[in-house]
Amino acid sequence: MIDLGLGSWPARRARISPHAIALREADREVSYAELAARVDRLAAGLAELGVRAGDRVAYLGPNAIATFEALFAAGRLGAVFVPLNTRLAPPEIFAQLADCTPAVLIHAPELRPPDDGRAMLTVEEFSALADTPGDPPDEDVDLAQAAVILYTSGTTGRPKGVVLTHNNLTFNTINQLAHVDVLSTDVVLCTAPLFHAAGLGQVSLPTLFKGGTVVVAPRFDPGWLLEAVAEQRIRAFSAVPTMLQMLCEHPDWPAADLSSLRYVIYGGSPVVEWVARAWHARGVPILQGYGMTEAAPGALLAPLSGAADKPTSPGVPHFFTDIEIGQDGQLLVRGPNLSPGYWRRPRETAEAFHRGWFRSGDLVRLDDDGWATVLGRMTDMYISGGENVYPAEVEAALAELPGVAACAVVGVPHARWGEVGFALVVPRPDADLDEAAISEHLVARMARYKVPRYIRFVEDLPRTASGKVRKSELPALIPEENP
Ligand code: ATP
Repeated sequence: MIDLGLGSWPARRARISPHAIALREADREVSYAELAARVDRLAAGLAELGVRAGDRVAYLGPNAIATFEALFAAGRLGAVFVPLNTRLAPPEIFAQLADCTPAVLIHAPELRPPDDGRAMLTVEEFSALADTPGDPPDEDVDLAQAAVILYTSGTTGRPKGVVLTHNNLTFNTINQLAHVDVLSTDVVLCTAPLFHAAGLGQVSLPTLFKGGTVVVAPRFDPGWLLEAVAEQRIRAFSAVPTMLQMLCEHPDWPAADLSSLRYVIYGGSPVVEWVARAWHARGVPILQGYGMTEAAPGALLAPLSGAADKPTSPGVPHFFTDIEIGQDGQLLVRGPNLSPGYWRRPRETAEAFHRGWFRSGDLVRLDDDGWATVLGRMTDMYISGGENVYPAEVEAALAELPGVAACAVVGVPHARWGEVGFALVVPRPDADLDEAAISEHLVARMARYKVPRYIRFVEDLPRTASGKVRKSELPALIPEENP
């Protein structure tokens, strides 16, 4: 059988453009030919350590060339790459390791978990496996085999391990390429974490497929990013909304040379409207994507044409992905990029995946052009005086106020109405905002029962690594004297 898996990508690219630079980090770069040779030797080294097809290879470290090498080397063996979230607390990491039971864990030295008998390698030790000559076993990798397990953000509960096959990641790549132009001469930036599907799927894998260069940044630093874009003539990068906001609030933003950027893709949650306008005004289209780990991750993406006119919409379905709105308003997603299910969770898999359709749990509306608006999560809802209130709708209206840097709305108990809204608002540094102005803005836009009864100004909101507000932690920010 022919190996069409992700692990074969470097060698396939090396046949076309061996000398092109595939990956670059601060003090190192590798061409496609070097990458292909290193991936072979790394795969041989992992096999030597006992890694077999189907085994998991876990990775705990910041984005690096080694992260991609581990992905491809595991793929070459038919093993499953599991990048873990570096921001998790030790017990959370321990739970994910216990869940995916890797044959080996590759880790940054400072992130080494306690010994529990598992085989562990530092990133440096892993990279050194490429110094020893060796050929990996000839594995026939079937596209339907698992390539990675990625844990969901855990916004609504305990993170679930999502199995993504080689097919899922390949079709997500094709979907991206059908939507945006990626050239073999492109240099892109990978700054979104690779332990989320967006970091892998939105820009990095499509660029490696096309033979461009991925500049790997270990962490997000707005000042560095603005400089890198100008110096390395970066064509695209993927981001979460908070990153885009931090960039346009940075002191270097007004003078930054952004002329090389063709587009930025972001997703995970909507961006505040003024941020979208600030980017479009600089001539950089920011394309909102909507997706989930289960879709590897793209389900919808705003096309280049039209993104500036509908800055808060994640656009239309991907090329090979179909959607439907269920009777309950829930978005259903189907396509070859859709995961076969959760790792060792048959009950959750059966609940979420039904006859090829994935139940997103999100309420979505389509306009006459077929462009989507995400109304919010079905579970993120409270009932005030018998009426359903979706906080996402109220948050979107709040975010229209230029003085609002971030906001979140939750329902709190109320003697008369059952529940009422409580808004937590992070003001911009020089904002002139007060409760009366906020209420007045909302009352003009929505039914009274939706307007939060309480408003509190806070300095920050608790967020997940992908920038989503952790709603379960918000009640702790609400003062006792209020409900
Ligand atoms: P968990 O499943 O563990 O609760 P999670 O749902 O946040 O976490 P992810 O796969 O990281 O896990 O995120 C997918 C969800 O993110 C989507 O179902 C949707 O609710 C939200 N989302 C993604 N993109 C957008 C977007 N552009 N606008 C609004 N919401 C979005």
